[in-house]
Amino acid sequence: MLEHCTPWPEDFAKLYCEKGYWTDITLSEMLESTIRKHGSKESLVYEEQRITYRELGEKVDRLAAHFLECGLKPLDRVVFQLPNIPEFVYCFMALVKIGVIPVMALAAHRQHEIKHFIKGAGAVGYFIPGVYRKFDYTEMAEEIKAENSQLKCVFVAGETKSDQISLAKLLETPAGNQSPDYLSKFLPDPSEVALMLLSGGTTGLSKLIPRTHNDYVYNSIQCGKVSGFNEKTVLLAILPLAHNYNLACPGILATYAHGGKVVIAPGIDPESIFPLVEREKVTIIPAAVPLISNWLNSPIPDQYNLTSLQVIQNGGAMLAPELRKRIKEKYKCTTQEVFGTAEGLLNLTRLDDEEYLILNSSGAPISPHDEIKVVDDVGNEVPDGEKGELICRGPYTIRGYYNNPEANAKSFTPDGFYRTGDVVRKRNGYLFTEGRIKDLINRGGEKISCEEVENLILQYPKVQNVCLVAMPDEVYGERACAWIIPKVGEKITFEEVIGFLKEQNIAKFKLPERIEVVDEFPLSPAGKILRRTLRKQIAAIIEKERHAKIGICLKNPIPVSPWM
Ligand code: AMP
Repeated sequence: MLEHCTPWPEDFAKLYCEKGYWTDITLSEMLESTIRKHGSKESLVYEEQRITYRELGEKVDRLAAHFLECGLKPLDRVVFQLPNIPEFVYCFMALVKIGVIPVMALAAHRQHEIKHFIKGAGAVGYFIPGVYRKFDYTEMAEEIKAENSQLKCVFVAGETKSDQISLAKLLETPAGNQSPDYLSKFLPDPSEVALMLLSGGTTGLSKLIPRTHNDYVYNSIQCGKVSGFNEKTVLLAILPLAHNYNLACPGILATYAHGGKVVIAPGIDPESIFPLVEREKVTIIPAAVPLISNWLNSPIPDQYNLTSLQVIQNGGAMLAPELRKRIKEKYKCTTQEVFGTAEGLLNLTRLDDEEYLILNSSGAPISPHDEIKVVDDVGNEVPDGEKGELICRGPYTIRGYYNNPEANAKSFTPDGFYRTGDVVRKRNGYLFTEGRIKDLINRGGEKISCEEVENLILQYPKVQNVCLVAMPDEVYGERACAWIIPKVGEKITFEEVIGFLKEQNIAKFKLPERIEVVDEFPLSPAGKILRRTLRKQIAAIIEKERHAKIGICLKNPIPVSPWM
């Protein structure tokens, strides 16, 4: 296995093989098996483009061969920042076919995050769009490359700069050798790392989550089974494909494993989504809280024939029971809660569950060999129905982050259970989420590490101390509020803090959306900042403002979707 990764202990690996969870195939072999069965069937629809499985396979092979010619080789890491465009699918499948490991960045990430991924993963390649949503990624790539001599190739889905490589050109030019025999020489071992996801880190910047072919193939196939996927599945991809949820839970990979069709939505607003549902006869939409609440309050969906729609999934953050009920009533389809982590464990409600579970629970694990425990502060299991931290291990839950022994010591128990940081209750095998024990803000599914943003704000010369907390929000569930103590004699405004943070080139969704300036923080007897008190205080302030009908509760909302 790739150096600095933690493999499953041998006895566990043997068990997972014996049980048939690990089938010793790679992600590209999983796709190829579908191509053999459904070659002439549509695999991908994007705007006017319609790509059959056979055409998808040809594009993947051509790119795989080109990537080898460009000097990429098995076990190389590349930072993968393509948004939801067909090139995402072609390049991702081509990379995993030859054992090159994509690190799944989001389009929203900027220099601050990308440099961290390149350094952390030791990446030699970088995949970007050209100009996307008014941001020029080629320029950012030039700056980053100038500072990172290890970064050899930048691949662009769009206009290129200097020595950057055009993906469009690679796609239209036959490669020197793209024969199946030649490419099969590079086929990775299924127990090898296939890709790296990003942790919704609580401690500073995201950690890298190495997922193997064996575990990710199982993750995709099993999640697809639980969600009733088959060759009639038509999945509408709206949220970032780079997220574990949309990639494989069940997402596009499960659709491909089961022979369905993926429709990539060009936008996230109801005007782009619902005509597509009607036109393509979409059967399932993986969605998240902000999208769902937007749709439920929009008249647009009513103008379309949505009878094909069987399931609307929710993931990333809990969907309130009331909203789940409204989906059922309005769209006459099932809702499915997807409660999972990029580190592995996935819990889903089943499509035929009794109504109480569909409306209230966070689902049950997808694998018979997911071992889950709910534990107290000292690691003892609590009785069913009581609150505690969810810890887990199993055939698709990692045993360690990439090259990060310090985080591993904190995030995994000595016997290999991953500490999720989620507070849950377990009842009859189903989980009910109750919040988190770690300092993390969940902005409509996108996670913000308090520590990471606090460290940046502390660098602002006028700041003496800062504490970032979640404030409640009707649309996103939570947004970030920064409580700030200025240095003596200094005055601080929201605009200057945000201006300073923007100069640090961080992803927009991490920017605090309100600041509260105070002289001191509430402290515990041991001198620790009482975050919970600050959280309660801001919630009370917002509630008061709402009652006073001041208008929207945010003083300084940032008009940005959580995914940009
Ligand atoms: P990530 O690894 O970034 O996908 O984040 C995983 C975390 O998101 C989980 O540990 C939960 O805290 C939260 N999460 C994801 N899905 C749900 C859900 N359906 N309900 C509640 N929390 C969720």
